[in-house]
Amino acid sequence: MDSSNRPQDKRADLSGLLLGWYDRAARDLPWRVPPDRSRAGERPDPYRVWLSEVMLQQTTVAAVTGYFHRFLARWPTVADLAAAPDAEVMAEWAGLGYYARARNLLKGARAVVASENAAFPDSYGALIALPGIGPYTAAAIAAIAFGRPETVVDGNVERVVARLFAVTEPLPKARTTLRCLAASLTPDERPGDFAQAMMDLGATVCTPRKPACMICPLGPHCQARTLGIAADLPVKTPKPAKPERQGLAYVARRADGALLLETRPERGLLGGTLGFPTTGWTVEPPNPAPPFRADWRQLPGTVRHTFTHFHLTLTVLMAEAPPGANPDRGNFRAPAGAPANALPRSLPTLMRKVHDHAFRNESLEPDVPPPDSPAMTGATDT
Ligand code: SF4
Repeated sequence: MDSSNRPQDKRADLSGLLLGWYDRAARDLPWRVPPDRSRAGERPDPYRVWLSEVMLQQTTVAAVTGYFHRFLARWPTVADLAAAPDAEVMAEWAGLGYYARARNLLKGARAVVASENAAFPDSYGALIALPGIGPYTAAAIAAIAFGRPETVVDGNVERVVARLFAVTEPLPKARTTLRCLAASLTPDERPGDFAQAMMDLGATVCTPRKPACMICPLGPHCQARTLGIAADLPVKTPKPAKPERQGLAYVARRADGALLLETRPERGLLGGTLGFPTTGWTVEPPNPAPPFRADWRQLPGTVRHTFTHFHLTLTVLMAEAPPGANPDRGNFRAPAGAPANALPRSLPTLMRKVHDHAFRNESLEPDVPPPDSPAMTGATDT
């Protein structure tokens, strides 16, 4: 058999082509060691790799970059992050979403600092044993920061591999197949650069809707391109429609401008984040649960927000807190030395929407009378 036809040689060719492209076209990212320095043996700081990979899950590079710089400015090392108060980390994470990631960062940082060497372990097996570090993140740190030949598979990589091998089995069922195929491509040399090259290719060339096959370094070897089905892959099993839930949010303002905020319970949606008191978020109309007795006024319109598993419509009620108001949860606060309107940056996106909705509509008349158990008004995206 001609050795150039063996599958392993073909896959080595693909890895080589991709790494050659990466050497020319790698994205310049603040957590990355560029390919010329990587080839010379320089490795990135595992803390930076970890932070960036956790932030990038479900989020774009553009959305993450500012957060990454702010985190590093406040907590330049894993020891600094481990020593940070939970509330400050949650506030700095506000707006990035999927708040369990921030809680897991703290868990992971504290476990690293408490470990024997107080440093990141350098293998997949030891990394995944740390609390708060899952298979994807462990593989990414092991490959990128320590040069281990681990296969890093995110949504971008799944898409590239599904197209390269024309895998028509739908996701998520195809995940095991795609992982095996991705592993078959991962080289022993420069596995970290290879992982980042796959991510870059998926983000910039093999994009979800319009793959740029004409400029793709893997184009001549791509089965989906040959078959003319690249834009149709990967096939995804349709998701069921998201259910609707509803709730009430209470915005209370004291005479000095401070707002009533509470830290949400650790477990559950937006766990550990700061927000306005709300009722539960339920399918049926919620039972009112104002944090103190006051003349609560229902504002016109509603706040709409979509979580992974449901759509939420919040009706906002607002009150001026009377002197001596004694809320049964949360407390009045404004950022130290800052005006109350500086607050939204430390709130998660849903609560920023509630804040903005309240102060945009506070002088308007409600479009329905304030009921004991307010019915939902027509949904309005805000
Ligand atoms: Fe993706 Fe097209 Fe490249 Fe195939 S040729 S990997 S479909 S960009």
